[in-house]
Amino acid sequence: MAVVPEAPIAILLIEDDDSIATPLAEGLTRAHFSVTVARSGTEGLAGAPGADLVLLDLGLPDVDGADVCRLLLARSDTPIIVLTARGDERDRVRLLEMGADDYVVKPFGFRELVARIGAVLRRSNAALVGATESDRKVQEFTRLRIDHRSRRVDVEGREIALSRKEFDLLARLAETPGAVVRRERILEEVWDEHWWGSTKTLDVHIASLRKKLGDAAFIATIRGVGYRLDDHE
Ligand code: CA
Repeated sequence: MAVVPEAPIAILLIEDDDSIATPLAEGLTRAHFSVTVARSGTEGLAGAPGADLVLLDLGLPDVDGADVCRLLLARSDTPIIVLTARGDERDRVRLLEMGADDYVVKPFGFRELVARIGAVLRRSNAALVGATESDRKVQEFTRLRIDHRSRRVDVEGREIALSRKEFDLLARLAETPGAVVRRERILEEVWDEHWWGSTKTLDVHIASLRKKLGDAAFIATIRGVGYRLDDHE
């Protein structure tokens, strides 16, 4: 079988702990990724352009990992998987709300991490393909306007700044306005079919989306079933 050479996927690993960074970088290199290791937040931020995916340790010596995450997300669409210590669920929810794509809890298995990387990359590629398909697609509702091309959302003419996940969630509900989208369906399509995180993540995103839209009535909860986009007078 002929092997088609492809440019390796570039992973930026931001991790100050050598006992984790070194074997992880070696393993990822063996798994055919191209790996750059940054030992601090500052180094990571400098190295981020050009990375296809960022693995971000939260406990960094110079900058709070959450701040690094926020800065990376503000600068680019590069997916981020957070490497986090056990027991800080509030941190993880906060990071997912912020727009990180996934997290793994230390100590994690190498194969689990590679599976997560694959899932996150597939999702972000699907989002890119989706973006070209929905090119020129603008949905105008009564008060809500969703421009899928620029991923811009306006409520009564006022632009609303949404995180990537919040936009994806709104866009999914807007695919079938007025119809209920089941929770499992949303988790599958907006997160991942192999989503292992807490389903609370969805509620957290719905809550923040409602808050940003400024009117909870835009998204109706159908208890035990799912959510529905409503935009009536
Ligand atoms: Ca660390």
